[in-house]
Amino acid sequence: MRGGRMLTTDNYECTWELYKSIPSLNHEGQTVLDETVEFNERHKSNAMARLVDSRRAKVSVTSMGFSMEDRIELLKLSQADEDTLGASCITDWFSPVFFETEFWYMWATTFAFQPWHSAVEFRRYLHRFLLEFSRIETLAGVKRTIYNQYESLVLPLQAWLTLHGVHLVADCKVTDLDHKTENGKFIVTGIHCLRQDTSEAIAVNDGDFVFMQNGSMTDASSLGSMTSAPSMLTKADSGGWTLWEKLAQGRPEFGNPAAFNSCIAQSCWESFTVTLKNPAFFDRMTQFSGNQPGTGGLVTFRDSNWLMSIVLAHQPHFANQPAGVQVFWGYSLFPDRVGNFVPKPMAECNGAEILRELCGHLRFDPDTVASGNCIPCRMPYITSMFMPRMRSDRPLPVPCGSRNLAFTSQFVEIPDDVVFTVEYSVRAAQMAVYELLGVDREIPPVTPHGQATASAARCVDQGV
Ligand SMILES: Cc1cc2nc3c(=O)[nH]c(=O)nc-3n(C[C@H](O)[C@H](O)[C@H](O)COP(=O)(O)OP(=O)(O)OC[C@H]3O[C@@H](n4cnc5c(N)ncnc54)[C@H](O)[C@@H]3O)c2cc1C
Repeated sequence: MRGGRMLTTDNYECTWELYKSIPSLNHEGQTVLDETVEFNERHKSNAMARLVDSRRAKVSVTSMGFSMEDRIELLKLSQADEDTLGASCITDWFSPVFFETEFWYMWATTFAFQPWHSAVEFRRYLHRFLLEFSRIETLAGVKRTIYNQYESLVLPLQAWLTLHGVHLVADCKVTDLDHKTENGKFIVTGIHCLRQDTSEAIAVNDGDFVFMQNGSMTDASSLGSMTSAPSMLTKADSGGWTLWEKLAQGRPEFGNPAAFNSCIAQSCWESFTVTLKNPAFFDRMTQFSGNQPGTGGLVTFRDSNWLMSIVLAHQPHFANQPAGVQVFWGYSLFPDRVGNFVPKPMAECNGAEILRELCGHLRFDPDTVASGNCIPCRMPYITSMFMPRMRSDRPLPVPCGSRNLAFTSQFVEIPDDVVFTVEYSVRAAQMAVYELLGVDREIPPVTPHGQATASAARCVDQGV
């Protein structure tokens, strides 16, 4: 499992604009948007065990745990402009106690923020997801897809594209681009790629356009098993960042990949998927949390050394999931720390050890997961988009001076929108395609929820 995508319908403007015209593969006559909205009407998120402490007690999260100092610091950050924030970290703006508030534990584990991440990005999140402030403890604003996002979002889009004559080629790695400069314009003239280890060259002719993925948060990911930990891969093993690095060399308008991919210790975390053939774990979790699968969102073990969370999605999570099989997903923000119940860092643990740590926090008998198959997944660049950066570190979707090359990814500069979202990639692609192809169609604006922070700031100024 790649983790369940949390979506909202108060944001994600471009994503829903796209999916309101993509037919569902499961419900004839409905679009993906229709079926997703309907599903979420039936299965509303209402987390009742969002944080669990070391006594295995559900932490009261009706208060965010803020002091007046925390509130003032939050408002200062949310009112600062991006030039002032520069490449500063979240820790540059808050006192240590802020990182012990219920708010921080919930916000950080919902969105995967670390204290050393970009203050600019954290500020953008505060504005973009302002509506989540009042419901972060129940995750009531979170919308889910019916199945995993590959089957619910990727496959219907792929089917629609194929129907419209798009030729998709998988198992193909682009290794280089040929280019020339004409009248000061950068023009791609050819693509070099490896298909099943065979080199190929594709000519890029006049009138052709090239849309390139510059960087990926799942680059160099590796899987373990019940008996082995995932290998510790880096970008050197995968070569995933190389193309962007090559192109950006000596061309500041193409960005600075080093700002994002230079420190695995700051951008890595680890997830795990558990497949069960016995209902005991789901039954006990339902009883403990008070949530039916698919309604609880994240359960975070607040005091766990690994800062571990699990999510029990609505079952079945896969269209062809056999009856009697249940799957869930979890992740830990600090895989480099020694566990509470397993005396080693998560990064060195196999699936059986991760299950032992999980059962320790829940005080569940190991028999509860006796049939479980736990597959760990290490993602060294999973939060690389949150690394502190300057605006110039990310290229524009269509960089200045480019005639036929555009970037589409989480590593392009889009005003106001937030990375680590499906929405950002859809918006980046719309911006790149509309601009290069001259499509006369409006891109839905980022909803300005952030204006409310200004009135909150005025209230604090007036002592309210
Ligand atoms: C565990 C996890 C949880 C997440 N949770 C959420 C969530 O709750 N809500 C949300 O909105 N978003 C979430 N996201 C983020 C969201 O999934 C991503 O932002 C989005 O999928 C990025 O899409 P993309 O197409 O830009 O890049 P990717 O999905 O990274 O796809 C890029 C593709 O390009 C390929 N590629 C790269 N370079 C080359 C090359 N040179 N040649 C050939 N192929 C290449 C890569 O292999 C990859 O397949 C999550 C991501 C992860 C990993």
